[in-house]
Amino acid sequence: MTERSEGAVGPGEGAIRLGEAAAEAVARAGTELRGDSGPAMARLVASRVLDVPDFPKPDVLFKDLMPLFADGVAFRAVVDGIVEHHGRDSFDVVVGIEARGFVVAAAIAYATGKGVVPVRKAGKLPRAAYAESYALEYGEATLEVHQDAFTAGQRALVVDDVLATGGTARATLDLVERAGGTVAGFTVLLELSFLGGRERLSPRGVHALLTV
Ligand code: AMP
Repeated sequence: MTERSEGAVGPGEGAIRLGEAAAEAVARAGTELRGDSGPAMARLVASRVLDVPDFPKPDVLFKDLMPLFADGVAFRAVVDGIVEHHGRDSFDVVVGIEARGFVVAAAIAYATGKGVVPVRKAGKLPRAAYAESYALEYGEATLEVHQDAFTAGQRALVVDDVLATGGTARATLDLVERAGGTVAGFTVLLELSFLGGRERLSPRGVHALLTV
C-alpha cells in the first residue's frame, strides 16, 4: 500500500493501515495512546506488544515486543520512524542494549549505513571493558562496553525495547561517555512512565514511541 491516510504509519511505500488490534488497544486504553512520534506510531507499537503477567518473576508485567519484531511492515515503520525523529545525520553509530536492543540497533544501523556498538551483560565482551552496575525493575545487573568502542566524540544513538526505572539506560549512557562517545539520542519502543525512568534520566532526553 502506498497511500498515506489517517491511521497509516510510515513514509510512502510500505505505509501500513492500523488494524483491528490497534483499535482494540485504543479501546482498552480508553483514551488516545501517546508517544513522542505521535499517536499513530504509539498505536502501532501498542497493537504489537503482548502483556505477559508474572514474567520473569511474580508481579512483573512483562512487555513482549516480539510481535512487533516479527511483523516486517510494522518493524520497518518503527525503524524508519526512529531515524526520521533523530535525523540520519545526527549520529555516527548505534548502540544496542542486550538483548532486544540489538534487534532495533542493527536495523537502524543498516538502514542508515552506520555501525553498531553492543552494550552487553557482564562477562560477555572478550576484550577490556568499562562496567556499570545498576538496579533493575526486577533485580540487579552490570552492563559493559568495550573500552575502544568509540572514537573520541563519536555520536551514539542509543536504543532499547523498554524503559522501566531507567537504571539500564542511565548505566548505558554513562558507559558511552566513559568510553569517549557522546550521546546523540536515546530511543525506546515502549516507556513505562509510572516507573519514572524519564525523570531519572533528566536532563538527558528520551524518545519513546509508546508511553503507557
Ligand atoms: P530499567 O533498567 O528498570 O529501566 O529496565 C529496562 C530494561 O529491562 C530494558 O532492557 C528492558 O528490556 C527490561 N525490562 C524492564 N522491565 C520490563 C518490562 N516490564 N517488560 C519488558 N522488559 C522490561
